[in-house]
Amino acid sequence: MAIVMKFGGTSVADAAAIENVARIVAPEQKSAPVVVVSAMSGVTDSLLNATTIAATGDAQRAFTSLENVFKRHEAAARELLSDPRREEFLKQLSSAADQISRELELFAQKPSERKALQDAVVSFGEILSSTLLAAVLNERDIKARQVDTRRCIITDDEHTAASPLLSESSTQTQNELLPVIEDGIVPVLGGFIGATTKGRTTTLGRGGSDYTAALIGALIGASEIQIWTDVSGVLTADPRVVPHAQTIERLSYSEAAELAYFGAKVLHPKTIQPAIENSIPVRICNSRVPGAPGTLVGPEAETSPRTIKAIAHKTGVTVIQITSARMLGAYGFLRALFEIFDRHRTAVDVVTTSEVSVSLSLDEASALPAIVAELEQLGTVNVKKGQAII
Ligand code: ADP
Ligand code: ASP
Ligand code: MG
Repeated sequence: MAIVMKFGGTSVADAAAIENVARIVAPEQKSAPVVVVSAMSGVTDSLLNATTIAATGDAQRAFTSLENVFKRHEAAARELLSDPRREEFLKQLSSAADQISRELELFAQKPSERKALQDAVVSFGEILSSTLLAAVLNERDIKARQVDTRRCIITDDEHTAASPLLSESSTQTQNELLPVIEDGIVPVLGGFIGATTKGRTTTLGRGGSDYTAALIGALIGASEIQIWTDVSGVLTADPRVVPHAQTIERLSYSEAAELAYFGAKVLHPKTIQPAIENSIPVRICNSRVPGAPGTLVGPEAETSPRTIKAIAHKTGVTVIQITSARMLGAYGFLRALFEIFDRHRTAVDVVTTSEVSVSLSLDEASALPAIVAELEQLGTVNVKKGQAII
């Protein structure tokens, strides 16, 4: 039985970090690891920024803005690889740069295609990191092969926030990965990316590599999904806000899902679902302190009576309050209200109701003007932006 080991962006940020990943993977070869890797830290942001520049029509300046991205990959390859692997990777890097340059040209020229082209551009972060990591593992005598995730994770065509199609992904993932694992080779996949049934590149949403790892784990029936990151597991609070936050040793699936959903960035909110459905334990570990006990997420956790286990927070939330005397003793009102959010494909996070009002929060508010216009037919609407959930 295989295990999945996912390494986040900071775990592959530079040559030293990548070398460290090889050291963490080496002793696990007996457990048949499947490695999932994010783009080097900051690379997805840089690629997205390049598309923003390209949207102004200046594809050349967009491409030039990526100079440092290419330099970082080149520097890591020069430090970690020797020829012919180094030569081979530098060729792949230069071909990726040519493709990115062409995609940015198209991005500037075809506004109607921008979401799909954005996915095509940002996918190179994970394509390059997985190519480089596979080469480095081989260089360290760990037999490894980069596998293109777009041949495994098949999604709908909701570009930039695609959802996997499970039966197609299941067949594809097993066909692509099982023979490699059986040959004793470590498959290395980029997280975050997938492809439509027509083969167009998609992405699963920011932070989506955790989700890729969990999906792959579920699809191959892994015995454990390991998320290697820059902190020692899920902590009692966001360490950027509470520096002395502590590791929570065990969490139940529902506790972890709830924390992730309400802002604990250490896990992408969708990570837990594939694990629950297949009862696969999820372990969150620190790649900088590999020996430190992290967090184990499973079906059950210890209860800690009268104590709060963790505090999560999320900012940039929009709160909407709808007040209407028509709600009093009436039925069908809430249905009419939520159907509006349905029609605009907008997820509602938290809801409270009183006799005459409903308050709810939204994370993604791009359809807000249209939603408010329809809500106003039900009652008085009050919108507050820039709120937070704790
Ligand atoms: P990766 O690149 O490995 O996916 P992320 O930056 O996405 O890493 O997630 C790890 C970060 O999540 C931590 O560095 C920390 O700042 C943040 N974080 C927020 N809340 C928590 C929490 N409750 N426990 C641990 N980390 C948290
Ligand atoms: N590289 C992607 C991002 O920055 C996915 C990930 O790191 O999980 O959002
Ligand atoms: Mg992450």
